[in-house]
Amino acid sequence: MVAIHRRLVCKWLMAAGGASALTTLATKTIAEVELGQGVLQTVSDGHLVLPESFVIGDLPADEAREIVETAGLATDGGYRAPCNLALWRTSDATVLFDAGSGSGFMPSAGELLANLDAVGVAPGDVTHVIFTHGHPDHFWGVLDDFDEPLFANARHVMSDTEVAYWSDPATLDALGEARQSFAVGAARRIELLGDRLERVADDASILPGVQLVPLPGHTAGHVGAQVTNGDASALVVGDAIGNGHLALARPEWPSPADHDPERAIATRTALLDRLAASGETVVGFHLPDGGLGSIARDGDGYLFETA
Ligand SMILES: [Zn+2]
Repeated sequence: MVAIHRRLVCKWLMAAGGASALTTLATKTIAEVELGQGVLQTVSDGHLVLPESFVIGDLPADEAREIVETAGLATDGGYRAPCNLALWRTSDATVLFDAGSGSGFMPSAGELLANLDAVGVAPGDVTHVIFTHGHPDHFWGVLDDFDEPLFANARHVMSDTEVAYWSDPATLDALGEARQSFAVGAARRIELLGDRLERVADDASILPGVQLVPLPGHTAGHVGAQVTNGDASALVVGDAIGNGHLALARPEWPSPADHDPERAIATRTALLDRLAASGETVVGFHLPDGGLGSIARDGDGYLFETA
């Protein structure tokens, strides 16, 4: 059995120039689970606000909108996608899955450093950064404002397939106009990281207790990771379950967020089936309420349940 704790971290800031005014700076729910001798938790990078074309696209609009709105993620300006980075800590390692958006993607994202600080982790403490894929919200935070690796002491790991995909000029040509900046941004960071970015097989063992799991379709070389310690285990799924609404309620629907929708459907449906059967702990980057919980069947679809 694993115990999942949730705690609210509130940061208060004395407003500049005001003698007594207090302003709420950030309020974050952090989910954590003890796995054997280690702790797996999620750290927020804020959220994305996505246009309808990224979430619903050509899906049956009325039914899709109702599912998304029922999940409470519709906003005036678009659809909210929470961003939860998995952080795995043992006595030997501090492993971050993905690097967040950094400062250059969306004003509502890029909060990772403040929230890592809130759990006592400085960038120099991170020993491994394992990328699930090369999208901006997962990869662009890898460099600081001077284009230097932010996690200066960490091994940086991405699947060889994913590096090759974003390094290929044909990827830029194949993507629609709305996503061309994704390809430019990923290729630039891959080039700047150079030899600092280790290219590994999509099922590689990265360190004891952390093994990549191929989950392709969202992007060509998208991976998850199985985290184990003793008898305890959890699966970090990245964007293979891309949201807490349509991906669960209609996993067989193509998602406009997936680069290869048919392959992503095959990956997602098999993954959800496995997770619902096993009941194992799962971390989803864009799943709600901290993104750490488990998957259960719900009619023809699934539910994400936080403990
Ligand atoms: Zn994402």
